Amino acid sequence: MTDVRGARSLLRGWGRTAPSAAAVAVPTNAAELTKAVGAAPARGAVPRGLGRAYGDAAQNAGGLVVETVGVSGLLGFDERTGEARLAAGTSFDEIMRTFVPKGWFVPVTPGTRFVTVGGAIAADIHGKNHHADGTLGQHVRSMELALVDGTTRTLTADGTPDEFWATCGGVGLTGTILEATIALQPIETSRVAVDTDRLTDFDDLLTRLRDGRNRHRYSVAWIDPMARGRHLGRSVLTQGDFAPRAALAPGDDPLAFHPRTTLTVPHAPSGLINRASVRAFNELWFRKAPARRRDELQSISTFFHPLDLASSWNRIYGRRGFLQWQCLVPFGAEDVLRQCLEALGSHGAPSFLAVLKTMGAAAPGPLSFPAPGWTLALDVPAGSLELAAVLDRLDDLVVGAGGRQYLAKDSRLRPELLPAMYPRLDEWRAVRDRLDPERRLNSDLARRLDLLG
Ligand SMILES: Cc1cc2nc3c(=O)[nH]c(=O)nc-3n(C[C@H](O)[C@H](O)[C@H](O)COP(=O)(O)OP(=O)(O)OC[C@H]3O[C@@H](n4cnc5c(N)ncnc54)[C@H](O)[C@@H]3O)c2cc1C
Repeated sequence: MTDVRGARSLLRGWGRTAPSAAAVAVPTNAAELTKAVGAAPARGAVPRGLGRAYGDAAQNAGGLVVETVGVSGLLGFDERTGEARLAAGTSFDEIMRTFVPKGWFVPVTPGTRFVTVGGAIAADIHGKNHHADGTLGQHVRSMELALVDGTTRTLTADGTPDEFWATCGGVGLTGTILEATIALQPIETSRVAVDTDRLTDFDDLLTRLRDGRNRHRYSVAWIDPMARGRHLGRSVLTQGDFAPRAALAPGDDPLAFHPRTTLTVPHAPSGLINRASVRAFNELWFRKAPARRRDELQSISTFFHPLDLASSWNRIYGRRGFLQWQCLVPFGAEDVLRQCLEALGSHGAPSFLAVLKTMGAAAPGPLSFPAPGWTLALDVPAGSLELAAVLDRLDDLVVGAGGRQYLAKDSRLRPELLPAMYPRLDEWRAVRDRLDPERRLNSDLARRLDLLG
C-alpha cells in the first residue's frame, strides 16, 4: 500500500444487508496501518478484518475503512507457555494451520475460522466453551494499539485495564490493534470426542445443556427454528472435548489438520428459500442426526466450523441478505427463550439456523457480550417488515429480562435499547474518548446505535 486514503469501495457485513461506500486502505505492514488510521478524514475511520461481523461494525459510509488482512503472520512463539505473538490481520485459519500440527489450539474459536485476530478481539468473541474458558480477551496477554494520533500503546489486562477492556469488545472504536499475544491451549490430538443427542423437548434440552457444562468443555445445540407447538425445542445437542491420544487408532496422525472448503454457494434464486423448502431441510437435518451417540471422533472443522465447508454460504438467502439475531438472557429467564422461539416459529420466517449455548461469568469489558445465562442466535432473511416488528418485540422482552444483543451480529437494533443492554456504556465511552478525543474513529454501527454518545 502506498496511498493511505484508499480507493472507494462498497462494503457489506456477512449478512449482506446494508452496503455502504467508503475509501478502503489496504496497508501491508504495521507502520502503514498506523499511518492509515491516522489519516482519518472528518467522517472518520474504522478498521476491518475479514468482514465476518454480520452487520455494519466494519463499515463507514463516506469515510475511511482500513483493512488489516495485509498485516498478518506469526511474530513470535514461546513453546514453553504457548503464547503466540500475532499480527492483527492473521486469520484463525492461518493460526490453526500453523499450530494444530504442533499441538496447540486457539483458546476460543467462533463458528468460522475466517476471522482475524484484531476482529476477534474487537468483538471479544466467545465460543462453545464460554462456560469453561470465557472470552478471547481473557486469553490475550498483551496487544499493541495504534491510536488515531499516530502513537501506539501496549495494553495489558493488569497494566492498563481500562484501555485493554474497552478495546476487547470495543468494535474498533478505541484504536487499531496492530498485534496481540494470545495464550494458545495445548491439545494432544486434533479430534474432538463428541456426544450427540437428538431431542424433542425444550425443557429437556435446557436441562442437558446446563448439566453438560460440568462434564464438557464445548457444547452447543442446533434448534429447528421453524418447529413450534409440541415440536418446540426440537434440537440436536452436541457436547465434546479434545480427545486424548489414546482414543485414536494406531497409525492415525494425532495432529492432522486438513480443513477443506468444497462447496461454492451461488445467490439463491428468489423463491428457492421459502417456508416449505426450509421446513423440509430442517426436518431432514434433524432426522440425519443420531438419536444418541457417544464419543464420536470428529475433526476440528466438522465440530467447530461446519459452515466453512461452503464458501460464500451467506448468499443462500438471496440478494436481500439475511440477519442474525443473537441475544443473551440470564439464567432464570428461560421463558423468554421459549417466547422468542415460539414467536419466530409462528411467524414462519424460513430459517435454517438457531443455535443455543450457555455462557459463564462475564469478562471485564464494558461492551463484552457474554454474561451468565443463555445465548440464542438465529438467522433470518432480511426484508420483511412484519419480521422486523417481531424482532423489535423480542428485543423488548430480552431487555426486560436483563439481557442484550451482540453488537458483532447486530444490524437492526433500536438505539434507545443500547444503554439498558450495556449498562456500562458510559464507562466505555469515557475511556474511548480519552483514546480518541477528537472522535475520528467512527463506523456505520457507531452512528446507527449512537455508540459514541
Ligand atoms: C459463520 C460465523 C460464525 C460466527 N460465530 C461466532 C461465535 O461463535 N462467537 C462469536 O463471538 N462470534 C461469532 N461470529 C462473529 C465474528 O466472530 C465476529 O464478527 C468477528 O469480529 C469477525 O472478525 P473479522 O476479522 O471478520 O472482523 P470484521 O467483521 O471485519 O470487523 C468486526 C469488528 O472488529 C473491528 N476490527 C477489525 N479489525 C480490527 C483491528 N485490527 N483493531 C481494532 N478493531 C478491529 C471492526 O472495526 C469491527 O468493529 C461468527 C461470524 C460468522 C460469519
